[in-house]
Amino acid sequence: MIPFNKPYLTGKEAHYMYQAVYTGKLSGNGVFTKKCQQFFEEKYGFKKCLLVTSGTDALEMCAMLCDLKPGDEVIVPSYTFVSTALAFLREGATVIFADSMDSNPNLDATKLESLITPRTRVIVPVHYAGVACDMDAIMSVAEKHGLLVVEDAAQAIDSYYKGRPLGSIGHLAAFSFHETKNITAGGEGGLLTINDERFVRRSEILWEKGTNRAEFFRGAVNKYGWVDMGSSFLPSEINAAFLWAQLENLDEIQSRRKRIWGQYYEGLQDIAAQGKVRLPEIPAYATNNGHMFYLVCRNLEERTGLIACLKEHDIIAPFHYLSLHKSDYYTRHYGELVRELPLCDMYADCLVRLPLFYELSEEQIELVITLINEYYATR
Ligand SMILES: *Cc1c(COP(=O)(O)O)cnc(C)c1O
Repeated sequence: MIPFNKPYLTGKEAHYMYQAVYTGKLSGNGVFTKKCQQFFEEKYGFKKCLLVTSGTDALEMCAMLCDLKPGDEVIVPSYTFVSTALAFLREGATVIFADSMDSNPNLDATKLESLITPRTRVIVPVHYAGVACDMDAIMSVAEKHGLLVVEDAAQAIDSYYKGRPLGSIGHLAAFSFHETKNITAGGEGGLLTINDERFVRRSEILWEKGTNRAEFFRGAVNKYGWVDMGSSFLPSEINAAFLWAQLENLDEIQSRRKRIWGQYYEGLQDIAAQGKVRLPEIPAYATNNGHMFYLVCRNLEERTGLIACLKEHDIIAPFHYLSLHKSDYYTRHYGELVRELPLCDMYADCLVRLPLFYELSEEQIELVITLINEYYATR
């Protein structure tokens, strides 16, 4: 059996979790939380980082920081995870869905202007598979119309746009350390990055349940109390300790994942050259962070057949998002806003993801490649 994903353990996780337990400081914002946040700030130059309990929570904090009013519009790609849209809907905003590009599932920056109205406040590019959206184009549209940009970088750790780390370009960004991502904080976890000074103080307050406790602990104020909105977004030190073990091995994890990605890319060249499938396209401005290897099949029937063929050999290759603009929730509440987004629908029907995790062996990868090539030999 080859699963789709298997979380990698570096071997140090339990050790650091044990340390966290025996220092007696288990709640958030302790030694391991600070080490992780500092790691990200130093390695990627994010102005400020806050560890949170999930990528979803990081997105919810971003949405709160945008200070939205009912009727404000937020542009989100339809080909994404539910949380990207839901975080903003929960703040009372209206989500306007954008279509994908033909060359990859990211939102098409050249079509952004047509979605902007006087009520637009935020653009949320999602770096699908860790591959950058065209951030220069998106930032210049945002600047022209006075909009905020929140990067959904949930899949985009250690990936770059023209040499700049993803998550450092928009005003705010969200990363995920769910067990299906490149690194995990023990199953669930996330990171909020704040790149615009205006949001730094308020982000700490939202993080600390609406109190100015972080300032109090720094000695900046002599008592703390309720000053704003907020919630419980801090992860336990146990999760931060787990994440720290992964961060110590980040380079090794990344190079292994990219090697696996490369092996798939090589092995599937022929059927791609014959036009039977499309392989991921990395634009010249982007990098590959080895988060995901996917194929784009010619149609739903071929994809269904391919998934079934791999399943017969105990190999799990799942498809991915269903179009959010056609979801039960969105059509029920925002039916009048639903427009055709054909490229999003195409990826919903045709994209399939291959197993990719640290411990996947070369023999296993070869087996997957062979089976896919055999499947297409007669097609
Ligand atoms: C994983 C993911 C999320 C949600 O992250 P969680 O940590 O699972 O809450 C949001 N957006 C995208 C694009 C994701 O891949």
